[in-house]
Amino acid sequence: MRGILKDQELPEVHMPSKPIEKVLKGQKALVTGADSGIGRGVAIALGHAGADVVVNYHKGEEAAEEVVEAIKQTGCKNVFAHQADVSQEDQVIAMYEKMFQEFGTIDILVSNAGLQQDAPLEEMTLAKWNLVIGVNLTGQFLCCREAVKEFKRRGVNKEVSCAAGKLICMSSVHQEIPWAGHVNYAASKGGIKMLMESISQEVAPHRIRVNSIAPGAIKTPINKEAWDTPEAYNQLMELIPYNRIGEPDDIGRAAVWLASDDSDYVNGITLFVDGGMTLYPGFTQNG
Ligand code: NAD
Repeated sequence: MRGILKDQELPEVHMPSKPIEKVLKGQKALVTGADSGIGRGVAIALGHAGADVVVNYHKGEEAAEEVVEAIKQTGCKNVFAHQADVSQEDQVIAMYEKMFQEFGTIDILVSNAGLQQDAPLEEMTLAKWNLVIGVNLTGQFLCCREAVKEFKRRGVNKEVSCAAGKLICMSSVHQEIPWAGHVNYAASKGGIKMLMESISQEVAPHRIRVNSIAPGAIKTPINKEAWDTPEAYNQLMELIPYNRIGEPDDIGRAAVWLASDDSDYVNGITLFVDGGMTLYPGFTQNG
């Protein structure tokens, strides 16, 4: 194993002790795919930061209600779960209508819902291709479009934020790193890069900020086979210079910063939260 720390010295769970400050007080946030993994971590972090939160889920109603309870524990009173398939235009529009009924508006979208349907190229069916592009790319397009309509209608509310709205797209290191056997997923994330940057260029004059987070390996159900045995975990560490897996809270804290006025001059960037995975670790020993 590469690196200074040995396996047994690696902390199992990364747990920053510093509480999240209430930098999002009074802001209304929607997190898609918030019943699991990164979306769950982001929704709870936004709650800690003082935002009111809509917890979108597709199939995991019970898990979504558990996230709602966890957010209430942070002191947040305005939080509810909403079922919608983000790849379906009518369901996305209905989700925003419900949010506007309950909260009046939206300040922050974390467009996070995503999935994998892996196969070697010649075995990749059109159904697998369409499902992944539909949720990971079209879903983000639909959710961003509806949020921008409301940001533009409302404009800046100085009581709440310097910006008229914030979009945060969940990308991946695979917007940069090609991924054999996952062409649908990698293409969807490459698409997110240009979707995010083009929207950002278009709406920045309206004081709308658009950025992405590109996680590396974060410990969630989507990549369980990459971390749930010591052998798999050690193999994964070969790809991560920082020598630990990421936790949903690592992404949650990055999302709070990107959503807050602390990052008000940050537009159109992808923030890689990956323990150095995009540093080409294969070249550590001289290539
Ligand atoms: P996860 O499987 O734990 O969560 C995925 C979420 O997406 C779930 O809440 C699921 O309900 C939701 N979802 C799936 N299809 C949906 C649909 N049609 N409509 C609405 N919601 C839907 O996985 P995760 O790791 O938390 O992934 C979240 C995001 O982070 C994804 O976009 C993924 O590509 C990205 N990501 C994850 C990692 C990682 O290492 N875990 C790395 C890079 C990027």
